[in-house]
Amino acid sequence: MHHMTLAEIARGLADKKFSSEELTRTLLARIAQLDPQINSFISLTEDLALAQAKAADARRANGESGALLGAPIAHKDLFCTQGIRTSCGSKMLDNFKAPYDATVVSKLATAGTVTLGKTNMDEFAMGSANESSWYGAVKNPWNLEHVPGGSSGGSAAAVAARLLPAATATDTGGSIRQPAAFTNLTGLKPTYGRVSRWGMIAYASSLDQGGPLARTAEDCAILLQGMAGFDPNDSTSIDEPVPDYSAGLNGSLQGLRIGVPKEYFSAGLDPRIADLIHASIKELEKLGAVIKEISLPNMQHAIPAYYVIAPAEASSNLSRFDGVRFGYRCENPKDLEDLYTRSRGEGFGSEVQRRIMVGAYALSAGYYDAYYLKAQKIRRLVKNDFMNAFNEVDVILGPTTPNPAWKLGAKNSDPVAAYLEDVYTITANLAGLPGLSMPAGFVDGLPVGVQLLAPYFQEGRLLNVAHQYQLNTDWHTRTPTGF
Ligand code: GLN
Repeated sequence: MHHMTLAEIARGLADKKFSSEELTRTLLARIAQLDPQINSFISLTEDLALAQAKAADARRANGESGALLGAPIAHKDLFCTQGIRTSCGSKMLDNFKAPYDATVVSKLATAGTVTLGKTNMDEFAMGSANESSWYGAVKNPWNLEHVPGGSSGGSAAAVAARLLPAATATDTGGSIRQPAAFTNLTGLKPTYGRVSRWGMIAYASSLDQGGPLARTAEDCAILLQGMAGFDPNDSTSIDEPVPDYSAGLNGSLQGLRIGVPKEYFSAGLDPRIADLIHASIKELEKLGAVIKEISLPNMQHAIPAYYVIAPAEASSNLSRFDGVRFGYRCENPKDLEDLYTRSRGEGFGSEVQRRIMVGAYALSAGYYDAYYLKAQKIRRLVKNDFMNAFNEVDVILGPTTPNPAWKLGAKNSDPVAAYLEDVYTITANLAGLPGLSMPAGFVDGLPVGVQLLAPYFQEGRLLNVAHQYQLNTDWHTRTPTGF
């Protein structure tokens, strides 16, 4: 049962081959048995899951249908879940039970999903390896000595290990696409404003976006359908109609113009990944796509700009965690100053503290123009590069990451080395564009992802290209040994 995709589960439930309750019990048992190896969950919500599964079965018995009705999923632990611990991977929020559901959580619950639990993540979504979680590192099911990517590493590892068919995730600089690449999944970061951020604990508000992680593009389409849409509670949510993503999967790729940026194939890219990307390009050419070399000349400035903007926003967003209003409070504070400094010093891990300090510095009087304002100008140039490119092509294709998943601990002493691994993903966040990563092969037994980017609100085009690719390749069907 655990090998089924969301689409297969929906068919099985509709055909009464099994009930949501049976499926939920099977997956909960599988999680209990296998998750200790990978540490992909922070909290399990068995009682809620069984109640939701029974309710979904009852709704089906009453004649209701729907692709998500009775489908088991999990939420990254930064989506607020009412009455359930929402930790954001941090000691700071270990005792925090959200008083309300995030819009994504309530929309999916209304569609009939079954929440198995909350998945592990880098602390406050800062990271690319899922090693900064207060709940311990997540391991990659493809090789337990390697990282699963981050910050949505728990969602990715759980889906890759077939503990569940799909999960929610968020992407500020690559945290859906990069773990998808590292664990052989398909992950979609939607256009900024497509999915509500209400109830998503903020890291960098102008970059954060929720989206689906699943094994196939077909499943990403199903999950995104349940997540997307205008939300008056989120002032950056965009009131744009949501297309039928599943209906759009079967469009022909004949004549599709794919742009391949020449800057992507620079010295930093593992040549074995470059070969796999070229193989995926050939595959898409066979399906009728036309390849064109393009240029994104400002791409080289994106990492420094991102690592000013994201920490700047984080330093502001995380100021609310002060030991008074939310979460952790230090023991026996001497005075108010001591309460603030020790609660924050003891509650936040070192990567979060590093980002707060960098961000506060970049925003401070005297440095604001030199760092933050300059980074915002680069952000506009990065966006302009994409706008120019999309005048000539429909989709941009390249690697998701320059290297496959590294060994646990390999980049712990050098945060900048980890930041450089985000080179292909962060530009989409700076520009607010949608991006998808899909499986494209293996290097040394570790999965490799190919990334597709599209103009604003063209999630459907990304899912269409990925689905056609997956009908003609079998990388996405490979399962890690032992799972
Ligand atoms: N690796 C990037 C960072 O650490 C992106 C993280 C994310 O997308 N949440 O900021």
